[in-house]
Amino acid sequence: MASPIDITELKNISVAKLKGVGEKRYKKLAEIEIRDLYDLLTYYPRRYLDRTKEAAIADLLEGEEASIFVTVDNTTSRRVRGGKVMVTTTVSDDTGSMKLTFFNQRWRERQLSEGTQAIIYGKLSMYRGQRQMTNPVVDLIGTQTGKIIPVYPQSQKANLHSSNISEWVAETMRRVLPPKGRGLLDPLPENIKVEYKLISRQKALQGIHQPENMGHVSTARKRLVFDELFRMQLALVLRKRAIERTEVGAAHSVEGPLQQKFQAALPFDLTKAQAKAIGQINSDLARSVPMHRLLQGDVGAGKTLVAVAAMLAAVDGGHQAALMAPTEVLAEQHFAGIKKLLADLTVEDEGSLFASRPLKVELLSNRVSTAERKRILSQLLTGDIDIAVGTHALIQENVMFASLGVAVIDEQHRFGVEQRSALRERSYAQVSPDVLVMTATPIPRTAAMTVYGDLDISTLDELPPGRTPIVTRWVKASGTLDQPEELVVSEDLSSMWEEIRGEVEKGRQIYIVCPLIDESEKLEVASAEATFERLAAVELEGLKLGLLHGRLKPEAKDEVMNQFRAQSLDVLVATTVIEVGVDVPNATVMVILDADRFGIAQLHQLRGRVGRGTHASQCWLVGDATTEDGQARLQALVDSTDGFELAEVDLDLRGEGTILGERQKGRNDLKLASLRRDRNVVIQARNCAIAVVDADPQLASHQELAVELALFLEEGDAEFLLKS
Ligand code: ADP
Ligand code: MG
Repeated sequence: MASPIDITELKNISVAKLKGVGEKRYKKLAEIEIRDLYDLLTYYPRRYLDRTKEAAIADLLEGEEASIFVTVDNTTSRRVRGGKVMVTTTVSDDTGSMKLTFFNQRWRERQLSEGTQAIIYGKLSMYRGQRQMTNPVVDLIGTQTGKIIPVYPQSQKANLHSSNISEWVAETMRRVLPPKGRGLLDPLPENIKVEYKLISRQKALQGIHQPENMGHVSTARKRLVFDELFRMQLALVLRKRAIERTEVGAAHSVEGPLQQKFQAALPFDLTKAQAKAIGQINSDLARSVPMHRLLQGDVGAGKTLVAVAAMLAAVDGGHQAALMAPTEVLAEQHFAGIKKLLADLTVEDEGSLFASRPLKVELLSNRVSTAERKRILSQLLTGDIDIAVGTHALIQENVMFASLGVAVIDEQHRFGVEQRSALRERSYAQVSPDVLVMTATPIPRTAAMTVYGDLDISTLDELPPGRTPIVTRWVKASGTLDQPEELVVSEDLSSMWEEIRGEVEKGRQIYIVCPLIDESEKLEVASAEATFERLAAVELEGLKLGLLHGRLKPEAKDEVMNQFRAQSLDVLVATTVIEVGVDVPNATVMVILDADRFGIAQLHQLRGRVGRGTHASQCWLVGDATTEDGQARLQALVDSTDGFELAEVDLDLRGEGTILGERQKGRNDLKLASLRRDRNVVIQARNCAIAVVDADPQLASHQELAVELALFLEEGDAEFLLKS
């Protein structure tokens, strides 16, 4: 018997082979990324029309939304006031007729010619006693029969109809499925299908394209979603295991004297989450497989301590550690903080008089002088420096560590995967350093499994005790301070400035974040300057204000920041340059102007600049959100201070494209699956992938899976993952 058809074969057959696909249509299909039969079969319907539940024109009530199956009687167009084109179409079914009007969609005239059959979805209104719909959704279905009709996303530009796609899909299915075809191969191991009650791939494709009822659609979807997520997780788990196989790391001595002394000297207890994370990290460090772990935790959750504990394990074993931060300010802050934390620690040193020397932490950034830099580089080489804190300067060519044992990367979202590996190459030692990546922009667990699927994950899901929660309020105001003539001054806004003055009188300090201006930094700076002038002259007249923005020279930035730290400024007016990491515990108020322009994660980061000391803190979101999304974002910030909860809301509002986009360019072949809707399937798929890979690291006995997977991997990757 001939073997069943697999994806590779489908991918090798051009849609040009299908009936009715000539050169012109081939080009149109290519515009919507359909080139071969696999593309076609995975071009899924956007929705379905259940003809058993179809409405009839005569039964529609005013204000009701409905889908109706109609035939076009005639279509005309004319110009109306303001130069707009209005297309009017009369349609009917067995029960009556109604009018459709479209504005500025002249092409409808061609689309809706007499006799055309279409499904209309819209809201019924009455106009002079006649039923009508304005700008309804129109799907051309041709002469399709069946109770459930799939509606495919159609490209107006390409002028392909849903019914065309259906016909081509039907032709393909006829050729693939028995009796005419050889049937479709199903590479998914039988036990997985049984465990998760998944139907065969062949049945699933039938169900999604040619369902007999809506139940069929949902079992089909379940299987196809699983396929997408399983493939993605297989690639990630294979990568993770391949790295673990090919890299050799140091087996660090955990719970050595430095780690112990450090923890014992802390003036507070570790949170449960911190203790757990340190435990997880220590067990990674003790193994000779290098660690690749992500430490997720909200702003203020205490990630630094965890990172320091990890770095000390390296030093305990005679290695070095590095912490890399995305900005100079952050690197300097980390350096100061870490130096303080480690001030009293000493390292064994047989060469010295008392067989010990102080633990040495140094800062390497682009701001250190040439002479300093030379000294630091040479001491990194000799191993005299135990811990190096720095920016990108740490991964430049000429930097070499004697033996880099642990590398910590803060705020991962600003670093690419390449930089992670660059760090690894900066060491003379034969072993790869253990890598800990920290991020303060939490993402939901299932999204993390995908975005950071090649890392293990530790999560700090609690804040240290005794924090006073930040109270967040949303002041609806329209107009901005940089254009005061348009500003509508509300009572709420005035009382906000009053309260802020009150805080300053109590000795507290204030951040005011200026509107985000996407078009250019120059405009943003101009707006910040105007806002600053206005505040100094009116709302906050008499207070000491400083201005911080991205176009200031580094020295000028430093000076402003230092003045603010030293409390010689009451108010810091700034652009988002203060987003990450700035730490001034005496600042208790964060005002974000035009807050609706910022995303949830960014607002949360900004808000995290306050609430760092013992005083109660507050955040004011000033803005007039005009979109529903904008309102939902600001309300989410008012309702929650939990970064993980906010991350869920963010994912719901923005969709996964944005999250995946950041790290998975090109690898995002999720067509049906949604990291939100299909959370549980992500977890199932990951567990299955781990089980399969751990039992069969190169998929030797799952050749069909391996072949299929290779189709989705970039060149070189397949080699590395499946053959190394
Ligand atoms: P993150 O980097 O996660 O935003 P940090 O590591 O900067 O947070 O810690 C924030 C603050 O909380 C620091 O001042 C730190 O000293 C303090 N801190 C950390 N862990 C604890 C703890 N277990 N108990 C009390 N305070 C803590
Ligand atoms: Mg931090």
